Amino acid sequence: RVLVLNSGSSSVKYQLLDMNPDSGGGPAAGTRLAVGLVERIGEDTSRLAHTPLATGGDKRETEGPIADHEAALKAVAAELAADGLGLDSPELAAIGHRVVHGGLKFTAPTVIDDAVLAEIERLVPVAPLHNPANITGIRTARALRPDLPQVAVFDTAFHTTMPEYAARYAIDVATADAHRIRRYGFHGTSHAYVSRKTAELLGKDPSEVNVIVLHLGNGASASAVAGGRCVDTSMGLTPLEGLVMGTRSGDIDPAVTFHLKRVAGMSEDDVDVLLNKKSGLVGLCGDNDMREIRRRIDEGDERAELAFDIYIHRLKKYIGAYTAVLGRVDAVAFTAGVGENAAPVRAAALAGLEEMGLAVDADLNAVRSGEPRLISPEYARVAAAVIPTDEELEIAQQAYALVSA
Ligand code: ADP
Repeated sequence: RVLVLNSGSSSVKYQLLDMNPDSGGGPAAGTRLAVGLVERIGEDTSRLAHTPLATGGDKRETEGPIADHEAALKAVAAELAADGLGLDSPELAAIGHRVVHGGLKFTAPTVIDDAVLAEIERLVPVAPLHNPANITGIRTARALRPDLPQVAVFDTAFHTTMPEYAARYAIDVATADAHRIRRYGFHGTSHAYVSRKTAELLGKDPSEVNVIVLHLGNGASASAVAGGRCVDTSMGLTPLEGLVMGTRSGDIDPAVTFHLKRVAGMSEDDVDVLLNKKSGLVGLCGDNDMREIRRRIDEGDERAELAFDIYIHRLKKYIGAYTAVLGRVDAVAFTAGVGENAAPVRAAALAGLEEMGLAVDADLNAVRSGEPRLISPEYARVAAAVIPTDEELEIAQQAYALVSA
């Protein structure tokens, strides 16, 4: 069994998976035994929602103050223990931690020791919003089970194969290197999983296919994957670059930030909040949920329609750019909340790209399913696919492979 922890600044998401090592060949299948979420840690209204899938029991929800990550993890441990799945179980082989920023050092999942933890801490300046929470989660889990292997699985690792000409910004080299400024990319666990699953759907080995992966959640990123290796991705030094997101601007002329400071009198922090929290779909139309935006468009709301069009225009630009980067594209894969559920986004993103071999079959696109599936007509030269992502399973598989090797 592997416990997967995704620790945010005020939340912990977790899944306990049975890796079924005897399932024979290939990566272990991974059966979910329990899933849950602790939210609003540090507030009076903390909430723990736990679903014991193994026992088929109902979701249990408890509300009340959970002071910090340590208390949160102890509460999770108690919930698991109540189902006979406690952290003291000898069947627990590892705890897999999602770690957002692994810099250039961590190119693969890594068993955490003091030196690894120190290196993750050294990366806090390039991931100030994410790595501190991940570190707290790791420290807490290590204190609870010091004897158990804890594995860090990095969001950046899949992108470390990007060639230097894709990873480096065209700025002064000495300045960039002194401050470790380069494009790292994020959502790598999802891009890795989805590109592999796309190859599987096409009945090919990952080494044989070139895929453009569009991870469209509240955060969104695109990647160009050539023969299983990432060659470009849309997020950069931070997750702010690239596609239009729920609350982030994505690509923007950096001079906008000077302008806001010089002319609008905004502080560094004001600009940070503006671009990360008050921009993207929410900045454009007040909503960041694609369901709500589609509903408003259906009612004739022009602001919602313009926001949607800007979102789609950016997506198209990346599809075009990555087609050029890859030279030959075998598939475009949509994933995450929007990519998996919003058929109008998929249809609009690929509309008019027939010359590039892309097309969407309206009936296939309308199918709702949790399974990987094609949405392109048979004649299309490039497959279009919906591939539900599963970052927890990918983290569990990577952690399990490492500790059982
Ligand atoms: P996160 O980046 O938080 O992990 P998710 O991948 O869960 O995000 O995606 C969340 C987003 O997915 C929501 O903000 C919403 O825009 C979109 N979404 C979820 N369900 C649907 C749906 N049925 N139709 C359209 N959009 C959806």
